[in-house]
Amino acid sequence: MYKIAIKDLNTLFSKIAEEQELILPIKKAGQYNFGVYEEGCDIDGILTNKTVKSGKDAFFPQFETLYNVRKKITPADELENGEEAANTKIRTKLTIEAEALKDKDFVIFGMRACDVKGVEVLDQVFLTDPVDNYYKARREHGIIVALACHEPEESCFCTVFGIDPADPSKSKADVATWIVGEELCWKPITEKGEALTKKIESLLASADDSAVDAEIANITSIMDKLPNTKLSLEGWGKGKTDEKFNSDVWQKIYTPCLGCGTCTFVCPTCQCYDIKDYTTKDGIQRYRCWDSCMYSDFTLMAGGQNRTSQVQRFRQRFMHKLVYFPDRYDMYSCVGCGRCVDKCPQSLNIVKVIKAFENEQKEAGANV
Ligand code: SF4
Ligand code: SF4
Repeated sequence: MYKIAIKDLNTLFSKIAEEQELILPIKKAGQYNFGVYEEGCDIDGILTNKTVKSGKDAFFPQFETLYNVRKKITPADELENGEEAANTKIRTKLTIEAEALKDKDFVIFGMRACDVKGVEVLDQVFLTDPVDNYYKARREHGIIVALACHEPEESCFCTVFGIDPADPSKSKADVATWIVGEELCWKPITEKGEALTKKIESLLASADDSAVDAEIANITSIMDKLPNTKLSLEGWGKGKTDEKFNSDVWQKIYTPCLGCGTCTFVCPTCQCYDIKDYTTKDGIQRYRCWDSCMYSDFTLMAGGQNRTSQVQRFRQRFMHKLVYFPDRYDMYSCVGCGRCVDKCPQSLNIVKVIKAFENEQKEAGANV
């Protein structure tokens, strides 16, 4: 275990950023979001505030180019000797240039245990056959420095999914950190974490592992008092499709949903994307961007699509998190970060869904 004074964090970040890209929460327009560290960027409050998005973009960006297709048209009278045009007037040549894969290490500092679990969810989707090479390259080069949740917020409920916000050394991060008084404690966990620590060792002092015990106990006691941490997942998980899919609870609760997609864009585990072409002056740029199962044109095909109403789309989002994903990967694809609780303009969220089904069960029990 190591430590560094919080007042020296800028020095630490500058040192890390000397050798590789550093991504961390930055305050812009009053909001905290992950961005690339630059001298002078506003990092005030990054240790204590929940970011609007999770840092998922570092591995699965909201927008990324996959490849460019360029078209070169050569008029027949400019063709070199011996060349024959495919038609009588011109020759058209297409070249495809794949976007380069990430090939340099980068550090992402300040992810919380729930967000790191979110990356584990993405790993199931993008690293199992067929492997997504763009994502894989970023995962191989990314070094995650996780931060214990010094001040968990009212909307947090990660413990429901077995996540420990007080001890990121139990997560899949490479380094775990804690705020202890005026210091940041730093504990490398993996080989990548050890290698990063070696590079910044001159800035760190050694500390005893027990230095973080009081902080862990304090975070645990805050979490215990939060309103959503007593949610029960009974009745959810593997094999519950028939039981939940046909319930009339969906019809009762979905109506305020605007289909705005906010819940999917702030979610650390949502992984749906669309692939589109953008016409450039000499061809097309093929890119992918996050999509939302809450949108009416999601996976729309010429023959129509199978989710034609908002209630179906609403049900899909929560069934996917709580039933289909456990069915396929043996884990939930909600990590209890509470962002959909904070951000839905209609105050609809996964907590409300779980509670609505719980109430329905209680009422059914009372009527037996
Ligand atoms: S649940 Fe809320 S955030 Fe999600 S699409 Fe509906 S209104 Fe938007
Ligand atoms: S569904 Fe909501 S609480 Fe769960 S991981 Fe996504 S944004 Fe967080």
